[in-house]
Amino acid sequence: MPLIELDKVSKVYRMGDVEVHALREVSFTVEERDFVAVMGSSGSGKSTLMNIIGCLDRPTGGAYRLDGHEVSRLDRRELARVRNKTLGFVFQSFNLLSRTSALENVELPLLYGGVPARERHRRALEALGRVGLAERVHHRSNEMSGGQQQRVAVARALVTHPRLILADEPTGNLDSRTTIEIMVLFQELAAAGITVLLVTHEPDVAAYASRVVVMRDGRIRTDERQQGRRAATDLAATAPIEDEPAAAPVATEASA
Ligand code: ADP
Ligand code: MG
Repeated sequence: MPLIELDKVSKVYRMGDVEVHALREVSFTVEERDFVAVMGSSGSGKSTLMNIIGCLDRPTGGAYRLDGHEVSRLDRRELARVRNKTLGFVFQSFNLLSRTSALENVELPLLYGGVPARERHRRALEALGRVGLAERVHHRSNEMSGGQQQRVAVARALVTHPRLILADEPTGNLDSRTTIEIMVLFQELAAAGITVLLVTHEPDVAAYASRVVVMRDGRIRTDERQQGRRAATDLAATAPIEDEPAAAPVATEASA
């Protein structure tokens, strides 16, 4: 059974008399453990697709099954449960609380989930270790570089042990070296059995995925496996080894 199964999913936005067909009968499946990059020019429907897959928005037509559950048939409580159990989100702008430590940022989803303090702490430390930030758990996010902030955001997505990570332009605010680091991190997560679906408009970024889907005008134009995908092991040789630049994108204060 695929983890994600879209069957002729459509999304029409109505603004007054104008209809925008953001998705046009998109059929698409993703098996567990796959690493998929969604590409396409601005306005092609990438974010709409991600929002529907992430249950942040509903299709206007067609069927969407997440882990075998027809999402439109779930009531609010069931939907919240499936989402919490299954999904982790990573955003372009990191969406961390800026004057707050990495540890507290990562604990936040567990706080909402009612996990006791000691367990929150343990799991947040584990997630930060997994993204290579074990030494920086007490740094505030506004003291971190862009690449480090995005690692914190990935740890925050991982802390609930999701099966699927959804990332909309996760490297859009990063320089090329930190972009590589984040993509290698996603490769590691996929190798560890987490399904990864990310949006990018850069072919160099999509090159790290196992499969590339290209959208145009609300439709999937191409959907191809990448044989010679860039591997983490190739990168050690190509990535420059100087320190990350001190100047980093400023974290947005946000409702995580
Ligand atoms: P992408 O992420 O590929 O840039 P989007 O999924 O954001 O594309 O948008 C697809 C189309 O749907 C665009 O024409 C966009 O203007 C339109 N659209 C997206 N969100 C809304 C909305 N909330 N209301 C109206 N139109 C929208
Ligand atoms: Mg978008």
